[in-house]
Amino acid sequence: MRKIEVEVPRTPEWLSQYRGQIVQLQKKRYALEQELMNPLDMKSGSLSLQYKRCGKPGCKCMDKENPMKHGPYYYLITCKEGKTVLRYVKDRDDREAIQRYEIYEGLLAEYEKLGMEIATAFNAIKERRARGR
Ligand SMILES: [Zn+2]
Repeated sequence: MRKIEVEVPRTPEWLSQYRGQIVQLQKKRYALEQELMNPLDMKSGSLSLQYKRCGKPGCKCMDKENPMKHGPYYYLITCKEGKTVLRYVKDRDDREAIQRYEIYEGLLAEYEKLGMEIATAFNAIKERRARGR
């Protein structure tokens, strides 16, 4: 029987590297999507943590060497007519809802960044192929 040699085009090394990189990015993006798809209640804004002195003489917060201030106290930061406004957040659920909002914003930014990195890799593949290699 005659052996037929079929030439299979080999994937060039540089392309394998891009593919590997893209697969890693896709895995990260998929994991993020799972988190982004199941949000709990959120409240928009960002939190400021503050520690304070009560002013009572003899209190640990008034220690000159090593003051142990009270807190943290949580404040909601908002912008009103160009000014930054701090509003005390008393309720723990409200505070957690704001924290979730901040976390969600961070995850979303990361998600967008991953999307751009993936697109950058595809563009690099396109450019290299267009140079005929
Ligand atoms: Zn105190």
